Amino acid sequence: MKVAKTIPELEAILNPHKLQNSTVGFVPTMGALHQGHLSLISQSKIENNVTVCSIFINPKQFNEAKDYENYPIDTENDIKQLEDVNCDVVFIPSVDEIYSSVYSGDIKVELNGLAITMEGEHRPGHFDGVVAVVHRLFDIVKPTVAYFGQKDYQQFMIIQKMSRLLHPNVKIIMCPTIREQDGLAMSSRNRLLSSINRQKAPILHQILTNAQNKYAHLEPYEIKQELVKELNKHKEFTMDYIEIANKDTLEPLNYWEENSEAQIFIASFIGGVRLIDNIKLVRRR
Ligand code: AMP
Repeated sequence: MKVAKTIPELEAILNPHKLQNSTVGFVPTMGALHQGHLSLISQSKIENNVTVCSIFINPKQFNEAKDYENYPIDTENDIKQLEDVNCDVVFIPSVDEIYSSVYSGDIKVELNGLAITMEGEHRPGHFDGVVAVVHRLFDIVKPTVAYFGQKDYQQFMIIQKMSRLLHPNVKIIMCPTIREQDGLAMSSRNRLLSSINRQKAPILHQILTNAQNKYAHLEPYEIKQELVKELNKHKEFTMDYIEIANKDTLEPLNYWEENSEAQIFIASFIGGVRLIDNIKLVRRR
């Protein structure tokens, strides 16, 4: 696996492949890699001639300075894991390499309301930072295809929208959420959990599956009420939001609508660590 830290280094690695019209699969990450990230790399490996992974903790997408400072870093182990799955290239740029006088990251994209609810509402500025960095990375890597996880569903919808406007030739693929055996969605932030909170954390996924298994005959606003009650029984959690939304527009759903599919989302703090998850929700009649 080749390691590039600067844009010229990356270009020197990729240019020969591009001259041969090779397809380039791209997996942007913030490092502290786990099987969720590696599943995206594996998908890209199957579908492309060359796979590039980036590791960049993007300061612009953190709305809390402390969250940025505490974000786990494990580059040596990341490189080892990427080698184990035969990733071809890893790009590990500095903040100055990404943001400079050439690119400040201040771009505005019409997101048609995709960013106003949920993560957009609860983490002001977060998606501006996500759009800024993914746009920049797409300009640098110029991928054929880019892979993102369903775990960050709203992020995927926003990147897809940004990409259609600014990078129409890049194909955007959503890959399924990879979970621990107890259902907890894998996340770099899971390593910040205390062992007792790690044992409690799968409750978030259980609540989502309860929505489907126990409450899917109710209207969405009633399902949300039941789930808030369930989460509030677990005192170690501080809820950020539980939302049921149209899976395409992300508009909140209070009543079932014919011909539209729903996704259910949860965000909660546990011991100061913020976890998110989502699953598809199908009405039961
Ligand atoms: P991050 O490093 O958290 O920015 O994530 C990088 C990419 O990995 C994003 O596209 C995430 O959606 C994806 N990802 C993170 N966790 C998982 C998971 N458990 N399963 C699948 N994809 C994931």
